[in-house]
Amino acid sequence: MDCIFCKIIAGEIPSTKVYEDDMVLAFRDINPAAPEHIVIVPKNHMESANDITEENIKYVTAIWQVIPKIAKELGFAENGYRVINNCGEDGGQTVPHLHFHLLGGRKFTDF
Ligand code: 5GP
Ligand code: ZN
Repeated sequence: MDCIFCKIIAGEIPSTKVYEDDMVLAFRDINPAAPEHIVIVPKNHMESANDITEENIKYVTAIWQVIPKIAKELGFAENGYRVINNCGEDGGQTVPHLHFHLLGGRKFTDF
């Protein structure tokens, strides 16, 4: 499958991993929008939030269990952070593998 994030999960494209378990991989964004910018992906391919089902919602649950863990480990949980999911063209999604942006280390004032 020609999917950048599937290739990162498979180790075919290198990434700076910050967390990994059997369902979730988190790695540093190559083009960070904040001092801390982590991309969190399910290890099974689904294109976007539109493809979340009763069967695969467990991957999203697993991701949300991991988000505060990463924020605590990287030391910005107390100050706070922002989590973003871009869905589809109007949402600004550029990589068609469901992912959440975890952004921290600065104050977000827009939106
Ligand atoms: P989207 O715009 O789809 O919500 O977010 C995709 C994100 O993936 C972007 O922030 C982009 O910088 C990041 N990204 C794209 N390709 C790579 C890559 O090969 N490695 C890493 N670490 N991040 C990537
Ligand atoms: Zn994929």
